[in-house]
Amino acid sequence: MKIIGLLGGMSWESTLGYYRAINEGVKKALGGLHSARLVLYSVDFDPIEKLQHDGDWEGTAKILSQAALRVQSAGADFLVICTNTMHKIAPQIEAVLAIPLLHIADATAEVLVQNGISKVGLLGTAFTMEQDFYKGRLIQQYGLNVLVPDDEDRKIVHRVIYQELCLGKLKSDSKAEYLRIIDSLARQGAEGVILGCTEIGMLVSQQDTDVKLFDTTAIHADKAVEYAL
Ligand code: GLU
Repeated sequence: MKIIGLLGGMSWESTLGYYRAINEGVKKALGGLHSARLVLYSVDFDPIEKLQHDGDWEGTAKILSQAALRVQSAGADFLVICTNTMHKIAPQIEAVLAIPLLHIADATAEVLVQNGISKVGLLGTAFTMEQDFYKGRLIQQYGLNVLVPDDEDRKIVHRVIYQELCLGKLKSDSKAEYLRIIDSLARQGAEGVILGCTEIGMLVSQQDTDVKLFDTTAIHADKAVEYAL
C-alpha cells in the first residue's frame, strides 16, 4: 500500500471527511483491521482564506508549496490537496514536488464520464464556479458542458461555504437554499450536480434529492484509496 499524503485544513472540517472516507475505503478493500497508511499536514486556514479573498494567489502558493514539501518529506508517495478551490494553484505545487498530485477535478471528471454525464451543474466557492482552473479543465480536457448558478445564487453558495460550512455550522435554511439551487440546475438540463467544495457533503447528501450528486470529497478519497492500493 502506498503512503497517501494529505494537504488538509481547508477547512479542517472537510479534512475529517477525507480521513474517515479513506480509512473506510481501505477497510472495505482489504478487510479486518486494515487502515490507510497516510501522512497529513493540516494548515491554519485563516491566513489562506484572507489571501484568497485579497486575490493573492501567489501568497497562497508559497504557503501550500512549503506544506506540500513537508508532506513529501514525511514519506508520502503522492499528494492529495483536500479542497477544490486550492487546485487553482495546483501547477505551482506540482512544480516543487517529486511525487505526483491526484487532481480533484480529474478524479471527478472520470466519475462523470463513467456515469455517462455530459451536462453537469457545479456548486463550489465563487473561485471554483467562476474561474477557469476547475471549470475549464472539465470543459477542455473532458468535453463536459458545465452549468453554474446565476449571480445571486453563486453569492449564496459562496457565503454559506465560508460563513457556515467551514465553521462546522449546518443550517436548515441554507440546506433548503442549496436544494433549491440544485433543482434549478437540473431544470436547466444538468444531468447531475458536482458538490465541488469539500464541505458541501456535510450539508446535502443524495438522500435529500432525486438529482444525481457527485460529492468531490468522496470521489477524491476513493481515488486516493484506489491509487494507494
Ligand atoms: N474546501 C472548499 C473547497 O473545496 C473551500 C475552502 C477553500 O477555500 O479551500 O473548495
